Amino acid sequence: ASEIYDVVVIGGGGAGLAAAVSAARQGASVAVLEKADSLGGNTIRATAMYNCVDDQLQHPLQIMDSEQLFFEETFNGGHQKAKPELVRILTSQADEGLAFLQELGLEIDTVIDNCLGGEHARGHYSKAHNGTDFIQVLSDACVREQVDFYLNTRAEALIQEGSAVIGVQAVQQRQPIQFQVRQGVILATGGFGYNVEMRMQYDQSLTGDLLCSNTPGTVGDGLVMAQAIGASLIDMEYIELYPMADIYDGGLHNSIPNAINHGILVNTEGDRFIREDAGRDELAQAIRAQDHGFVYSVTDDDFSSLQEDRDFLEGLVLMGQVVKADTLEDLARQLELDFSVLEAAVNDYNRSVEQQRDPRFQRRTLINKIDHPPFYATAKTVTVHHTLGGVEINEHAQVLDQKTQPIPRLYAAGEVTGGIHGANRLGGNSFPDCIVFGRIAGTEAAAQPPRPM
Ligand code: ADP
Repeated sequence: ASEIYDVVVIGGGGAGLAAAVSAARQGASVAVLEKADSLGGNTIRATAMYNCVDDQLQHPLQIMDSEQLFFEETFNGGHQKAKPELVRILTSQADEGLAFLQELGLEIDTVIDNCLGGEHARGHYSKAHNGTDFIQVLSDACVREQVDFYLNTRAEALIQEGSAVIGVQAVQQRQPIQFQVRQGVILATGGFGYNVEMRMQYDQSLTGDLLCSNTPGTVGDGLVMAQAIGASLIDMEYIELYPMADIYDGGLHNSIPNAINHGILVNTEGDRFIREDAGRDELAQAIRAQDHGFVYSVTDDDFSSLQEDRDFLEGLVLMGQVVKADTLEDLARQLELDFSVLEAAVNDYNRSVEQQRDPRFQRRTLINKIDHPPFYATAKTVTVHHTLGGVEINEHAQVLDQKTQPIPRLYAAGEVTGGIHGANRLGGNSFPDCIVFGRIAGTEAAAQPPRPM
């Protein structure tokens, strides 16, 4: 079978759907190829925090933020390894990206949060507090814009005429299907965290025994297809370990990561071992280095009262995934920790909050003491979460070749790209990445003069 569209998007996660809506709004006929039997990719599984500067929500909380601070935290957080021109686009267009989602119908909560690495709280949540409503809103918009979805359709190769990409060879339910494009192809296939062989090729330490938060389809298909036609891959060795995953399956669903702002991390001896507001990479390495490779996040009722959905927290308690106790002593008993060590760690941390200074680990976010029972704790470990490298793009989301020349009619957005986060990602930056660069890729592809066919 053979189909013709103006624009074909490979991958139906956040970046792919944002690209598809944007291209269709320019009047392009658009197809989204998705190898799974449903849309959403890893985007739908994410904790889904969306960073952007937002005076309206930040000012009442005395958070004095700016695009420049957002840029600096992102660029420095990534150890200055990202392409600054891409970071500039991310940090200056993230607010327009959020407005775009809101215009499509996404409801944003009034909470502002920060998570893993950023110093200025600028993280937004949708009403669902996860990726489901992002995907719902984007896929509804695709339907309104008459985008065609091809589910169970795996792209296998990019088709070229000269250097230009003019189509996609795919397989739908075991049958070959070819797509030709008049304007362009957009790669939005996500990362390669689930592909042990590929990740070990770039980082030997990421062995198969590590847990992974991704969907099993996150194996780097887009990178293989792009590399086969000469695309440049960059930053492939920067593979993010998420430090706060569920110890059973490496997922983030039972995650209470924000406890980190309102509590401490202790090892299996009951002691603190790091400033909890360190970057993700530092946290992950420190957790991996602890005995047994997991730690406990310990917090108190002040944290639980922040939870909109207390029933959810209580459910986790019932399932044994979160431990709840009326006294620290009982918490230590339930976790089989040495009470005297835990008590000393908590007292020392509480003193740091009082003095707004943490002499032991130099933690900077000292928001509240752990002194309001009941106390909560949950076991956390590292999981392979996000591959920061990928195809190299320019400011127009065009995929670059080995000589940094754009490959005509090939665009990319989302986790499949490299150069946006550098060597470490700020929590809350992948959603704006998908939306901002998805919009650019879609708009730019749809602005290409159609090739004669
Ligand atoms: P991003 O956050 O960058 O949008 P996601 O992981 O959310 O990335 O989405 C990527 C999507 O691409 C997933 O739904 C995945 O199943 C899909 N995908 C990956 N490889 C292919 C392929 N070869 N053909 C079609 N879809 C693919």
